[in-house]
Amino acid sequence: MSDKVDKESSTEPSVLTVNSINFKTLAEDAPVTLWLTDIVGNVIFTNNQYKNFIGRDKVEKQGGKAWFGALHPEDKEDCLTVFKDAFDTFKPFTMEYRLRRRDGEYRHFIDHGEPYIDNLGKFAGFVGSSTDITEQKLSEDELKKSHDELTLYNEEMNLINKLNSYLQVCRSIDETYPIVSYYSEQIFPDCTGALYLFNEQKTLVESMTVWGKKEIKSAAVIDPDDCWSLRQGREHAALDNDDRLRCRHVEDNALNYICEPIIAQGEMLGMLHVEIDETHKEDADKAYYLESRKRLIKIAADNLALSLVSLKLREALRSQSVRDPLTMLFNRRHMEESLEREVHRCARSKKGLGVIMADIDHFKAFNDKYGHDAGDIVLVEFAKLLTSSFRSSDVVCRYGGEEFIIIMPESDKFRVVQRAEELCKHVSELELLYAGKALPQVTASFGASYVECAVIDKADLLKAADMALYDAKAAGRNQVVLSNIEFTDTAE
Ligand code: GH3
Ligand code: MG
Ligand code: MG
Repeated sequence: MSDKVDKESSTEPSVLTVNSINFKTLAEDAPVTLWLTDIVGNVIFTNNQYKNFIGRDKVEKQGGKAWFGALHPEDKEDCLTVFKDAFDTFKPFTMEYRLRRRDGEYRHFIDHGEPYIDNLGKFAGFVGSSTDITEQKLSEDELKKSHDELTLYNEEMNLINKLNSYLQVCRSIDETYPIVSYYSEQIFPDCTGALYLFNEQKTLVESMTVWGKKEIKSAAVIDPDDCWSLRQGREHAALDNDDRLRCRHVEDNALNYICEPIIAQGEMLGMLHVEIDETHKEDADKAYYLESRKRLIKIAADNLALSLVSLKLREALRSQSVRDPLTMLFNRRHMEESLEREVHRCARSKKGLGVIMADIDHFKAFNDKYGHDAGDIVLVEFAKLLTSSFRSSDVVCRYGGEEFIIIMPESDKFRVVQRAEELCKHVSELELLYAGKALPQVTASFGASYVECAVIDKADLLKAADMALYDAKAAGRNQVVLSNIEFTDTAE
């Protein structure tokens, strides 16, 4: 077209001759779809762009109906509504829809319609153009998708930071479990999971806390050999619903899950197990979702590893300062602190507080005869018996050489004496082995003291138990004596 027009315009630059042929060319060959309707909405003109898009034969056969037939089924109703509205109001309109190309592919269009008037100045129909905006739409979708992903990532990181902040102020590993469960539920919604930690002997991995709405498919106690991640020391992701890569600790049915070992300073502490339900995700988004879960689980496991290892260290240090290394019972210092606290609590709560002092009989002679190591075995076995005989709220301590103290808060006189009597009996029944040989039976003596509804000095309570113990020894050992000192409330 340009050659002719250029020549003409160069000779007569101010006049551009436009006739009906030019107009026809303009309308037919314009690089956008053009259309025209009559007063009731029948399509009376469409251009080449449109015919090539829909398919010329279809347009010839179906006429104006071809457009409606090519509309995406989900968009038909909206388009009809816009049209109806436009013909009711004679107002311009804009609408977006998907239209099927002759090769079957749906493309996105933006369509503008303007009312036009006839020679008499009356509304005669709509004239419009539609432009293919598929590329723009796709990049908008991409942009929105990456924006959504970034927002989600920020939220997840925010939650991980919050989890860390709580973990840092936990005083014991036990305290971390509810925190881990609470935040995991938020960090991994739609997932079920568990935090596993190795037992002390490092022979088993135990589930410490579980989260999620669905029942977990992984066993509560795992042999480390049954988990691919624990065997390899690296993430094991079973994400393709294939049973062949399933760990033995996970139930028999194809299930997407990730096991991520928790490793700190080269030490394997446990494992984070997360079962993922990706069924609510669109097919196109599944791969990204699973990959992003993998990354997130790794970040969570690394953070947990750092917190757990420092808590373990702290617990070990604390234990060293309050525990006796031979028997692992609380030491004298801890006993003094606990008794101080319990005496005050007892005065406030008006509940009873008992103290039992135990001393192994003729232990010097035992040591002399069987050796110090055999004596140590007696101490260790005696300590185990004590630990298993009292409630966890009772404080069992090694007071000195072969002397032990048990503090029994919220107790009554009868129970204190009964416990001491049971112990006395069980000590004499202990089966002791040293170097494969049976050691002779040992006995112990017990002195008990008790206070209720009184504010007293802890030293007085101890002294009363000590004196009762002395009486038990004097009366022939292997027996329990309850102090006859009745503490009265000095504060009242
Ligand atoms: P009694 O019946 O009057 O209590 O007599 P006893 O021999 O038990 O009393 P004594 O207090 O004279 O002896 C305590 C002995 O406990 C002395 C010491 O050899 C022994 N002993 C103290 N600490 C330990 C220890 O850590 N290991 C071993 N094996 N023996 C200990
Ligand atoms: Mg002694
Ligand atoms: Mg003794």
